[in-house]
Amino acid sequence: MGLSGICECGAVTYSVKQETLHVYACHCLNCQTRSGSAFAEHAMVQADVFECYGATGTFIRTTGGIEFTEHFCPTCHTRLFNQNSMLPEMVFLRAGTLESSQRLEPMAHIWISRKQSWVTLPETIPAFEESPSPEEFGAAVEAATRKA
Ligand SMILES: [Zn+2]
Ligand SMILES: [Zn+2]
Repeated sequence: MGLSGICECGAVTYSVKQETLHVYACHCLNCQTRSGSAFAEHAMVQADVFECYGATGTFIRTTGGIEFTEHFCPTCHTRLFNQNSMLPEMVFLRAGTLESSQRLEPMAHIWISRKQSWVTLPETIPAFEESPSPEEFGAAVEAATRKA
């Protein structure tokens, strides 16, 4: 079965052959600007369980020596996912494009030092001032997996 996602106009869809996703919310300023919203929801999946249908437009931005390739729908310009040169085997979904997005709950909040003041986070979910280390992030994923 798995999960699927779609852009606003429906020209681009994708599937993830996996039943559960670990979604995290990033409150950094870049995510606020790029999403035009208070925070962005991301989900990291292995590239080999991910498939995209329909041609995407791409643009590349480089931050800290890492190249990020952003994929968006060329018709409605919804941003769908990105890949980066540091973790080429992973795909980073814009989790709000998942068809089940209303049922997803972030398992971690990152960059809460830039969080908008009206956003109140649940106390039971790990939250990090900035980017967590891979170990810290791994521990948050493990805690979420135990809870599920
Ligand atoms: Zn579209
Ligand atoms: Zn961010």
